[in-house]
Amino acid sequence: MMGSLFIVAAPSGAGKTSLVNALVAGHDDIRLSVSHTTRPPRDGEQDGRDYHFVSQDVFAQMRGNGDFLESATVFDNSYGTSSKAVEALLEQGLDVILEIDWQGAQQVRNNFADSTGIFILPPSKATLEQRLRDRGQDNEEVIQRRMRDAENEISHYVEFDYLIVNDDFTEALDKLTAIIIAKRQALATQKHKQSALITELLA
Ligand code: 5GP
Repeated sequence: MMGSLFIVAAPSGAGKTSLVNALVAGHDDIRLSVSHTTRPPRDGEQDGRDYHFVSQDVFAQMRGNGDFLESATVFDNSYGTSSKAVEALLEQGLDVILEIDWQGAQQVRNNFADSTGIFILPPSKATLEQRLRDRGQDNEEVIQRRMRDAENEISHYVEFDYLIVNDDFTEALDKLTAIIIAKRQALATQKHKQSALITELLA
């Protein structure tokens, strides 16, 4: 039984990480893929949990070896998803969430036609900027650059299957969960899972 692959993208500050963490915390059959990055860890981030923090050399070597399902440069840092880790989870029948940018999403869609893309929007530009400031992790120059990059990220919303506005957190989480549950009930997933039942019912 293969699990399903979900891509969750958003401009930084849309609340994507909090939503995905809450989703995964409530469902032990949904796993978040841990990306590799050359970005230094922020306060409170843990190697192996939030990211695999690696040097540029290690990242380049992995990319050269074809270890990444997708990879991209975002804010001058490299990010990539390990193919092996994702495939191992899918083969166990677990649903996998990739929290990646639009460039990575395009690459994944080319390899996994059946993947589901979900795009998270902030309720307004002002809210987006406030959320970036509230994190207190980036200086003013970085915040202004992230606002410009947010506009670029948002311009790719049409490439996704679902759109969620993260205004009320609980409501947004419900919507995200509903998309994953609906996908699990899709015929393509269920016809394998329920093959014994269907055989019995039609016998
Ligand atoms: P941050 O540095 O704030 O954690 O992430 C910056 C951006 O990189 C976010 O848009 C995030 O979704 C994206 N990102 C994180 N991991 C990956 C990855 O493995 N691949 C790609 N393409 N983007 C990623």
